[in-house]
Amino acid sequence: MLILLDQDGVLADFDEGFRRAWRARHPDHSPVARAQRRAFRVRDDYPAERRADVERIYASPGFFRGLEPVAGSIEAVREMLALGFDVRICTAPIDDYQHCVVEKYQWIEHHFGRLFTRRMILSKDKTLVAGDWLIDDNPVVKGARVPVWRHAVLDAPYNVESTAQARIRWETWRELLER
Ligand SMILES: [Mg+2]
Repeated sequence: MLILLDQDGVLADFDEGFRRAWRARHPDHSPVARAQRRAFRVRDDYPAERRADVERIYASPGFFRGLEPVAGSIEAVREMLALGFDVRICTAPIDDYQHCVVEKYQWIEHHFGRLFTRRMILSKDKTLVAGDWLIDDNPVVKGARVPVWRHAVLDAPYNVESTAQARIRWETWRELLER
């Protein structure tokens, strides 16, 4: 079994990291609480006049490297490896890639070791990547092709409308093995 794992929102806690950075930079304006998140892209949950501020946060040096792991995600990856699965990281960098790309690698190295970075696949179009399952918090993963993987959406307030083939939390990912 080949499992493609999205990085942000699946392994790295982008959502909480964003709120932490926002509070530090804009102490006068509360960030949108996780339970109130509706749009997949953070910036779309903010009014138009604040969107440049939102994008500046995750384009800043240190943002991606400093993200905390999503609870249970590191353990789940180790369990997948122990079960003999081929695990790859399938991640789409932001357009302001200068810090994002290298820091994504650094993040993976920090949590899984240097050799694990060989498992990274950076693609803006995940439909071009083959696998059995794609675990992704994006409610709709579209691209140039019909994907060969099945999509398991990692449950989040902003993806409740998703029609993915499965919905999991890190506590329940093993349900995929029965499909
Ligand atoms: Mg994601």
